[in-house]
Amino acid sequence: MQVLNQQFIDNHWVASRGERRLPVVNPTTEETLAEVTAGHPDDVDAAVAAAHRALPAWQALSGAERAAYLEGFAEALSRRRDALVRLSSTNNGKVLAEAGIDLDDAIACYRYYAGEARRLDARQGQVVPLEMEGVEARCYHDPVGVVGLITPWNFPLVTSAWKLAPALAAGCTAVLKPSEVTPLPERVLAEIALEVKLPAGVLNLLHGDGEGIGAPLASHPGIDKVSFTGSNRVGEAVMRAAAAGTRGVSLELGGKSPILVMEDADPEQAADWVMAGIYFNAGQICSATSRLLVHRDIAEPLYAALAKRIDALALGDPLVDGSDMGPLTSARQRDAVLGYLAIADQEGLTAVRDGRRREMPTPGFFLAPSLYRDVPVTSRLWQEEIFGPVLCGRSVADDEEAITLANASDFGLAATVICRDKARASAIARRLQSGTTWINSEQLVLPQTSWGGFKRSGIGRELGPWGLAAYLEVKHCLIPA
Ligand code: NAD
Repeated sequence: MQVLNQQFIDNHWVASRGERRLPVVNPTTEETLAEVTAGHPDDVDAAVAAAHRALPAWQALSGAERAAYLEGFAEALSRRRDALVRLSSTNNGKVLAEAGIDLDDAIACYRYYAGEARRLDARQGQVVPLEMEGVEARCYHDPVGVVGLITPWNFPLVTSAWKLAPALAAGCTAVLKPSEVTPLPERVLAEIALEVKLPAGVLNLLHGDGEGIGAPLASHPGIDKVSFTGSNRVGEAVMRAAAAGTRGVSLELGGKSPILVMEDADPEQAADWVMAGIYFNAGQICSATSRLLVHRDIAEPLYAALAKRIDALALGDPLVDGSDMGPLTSARQRDAVLGYLAIADQEGLTAVRDGRRREMPTPGFFLAPSLYRDVPVTSRLWQEEIFGPVLCGRSVADDEEAITLANASDFGLAATVICRDKARASAIARRLQSGTTWINSEQLVLPQTSWGGFKRSGIGRELGPWGLAAYLEVKHCLIPA
């Protein structure tokens, strides 16, 4: 069995100072794939020191020079695509097709930020138009410094790409902590760093859990900014830790996103988009559209179309062609979702489909999709992020009610509007409190458009120029003309 007890610091794999180890489990077979170190605060000290040593030379490079390394990451990931797709499926439980989408997303992200790094050169020193005469002001963009990057288990190579690519493009050096649940795919980033000859200390990768690495990284005085993707509970802890040194945070947190289906929609087409919005990655997506708001005139045909699709969904080994949905990523996550289904029983919710009733493959942390209808807004299933294959629906009378209910949430990450009348769909979309809104489509995520949420879904934006800005300080120099 693989034992991952080494940390990647200063371009070397060195033994972790931590003694504790955690099992890495294949969610399909329930076998232990590897053991990973829980890490130690001393690992963080060493990695942060290496990142500081590397910072001056790295930030002195031009954006175009840094872009060449990012292109190298994209190419190296492309060459390993098939192996990484299988590794992600094995560690995370997602079906091969979905793991392929992840890889393509990550590759596109490194390419995009190579372009942003080049464009950054052109933006340095631009003259700022002033109303005062006799003064010239120029604007520069400097890297924030040494950044801590902490990622979750649901989209390992994607969430790290969305942080690492813009951080390196900006001229920051980084300490990256992947999730201890899925540590296998992201190890490749260290291998690639060596392959593309990234200067030592620019990327340091630390394995470990929240206690061993995450919390010491978030509170480390040598870290200038933390970018975190994960749960609200931990995100708030990261923000508290960063407050101590008045350090910045970017937070990508939870969601409870709505999908609105209006009466002019084709119920069969709408059902496809609803299915993709909630059952992709077995529902373990921050942007899962887990609240269905359906116009009452189309509710019956839509629920019928959804039930038919849920029954046809093939649960099975994610590595086997023909499987539509794999297991949940961990026993803990499966049990958390089962906890919500028990609450649904207590609340007396009406199940169109109850995932527990279906025969499940064994072994593995499988859980079939559930669909509830006419769910009261007071239900915990309506209000809380479940992070599993559970969809809650409610009927609405008109656009106004749909918009009001869609916005009545603590979260505001994403939304989908399905409505044949494009002008009406766009008018609805403009009134939704969500970072991304898809209209008559499945969830399309592109590196040029931003990612992030309103309200409790987080602070800041990833992707696009906004993702780069998260790693830059704005600086103005003023001089008599
Ligand atoms: P989590 O918060 O449990 O863990 C995320 C990461 O934080 C892991 O690497 C973990 O080891 C680390 N961590 C744990 N305790 C820490 C601490 N005290 N200080 C610093 N780091 C610590 O989240 P998860 O269970 O891995 O992921 C699921 C959550 O992530 C969901 O809530 C989901 O909505 C959210 N998520 C959000 C987005 C987004 O873009 N908004 C994307 C993916 C996932």
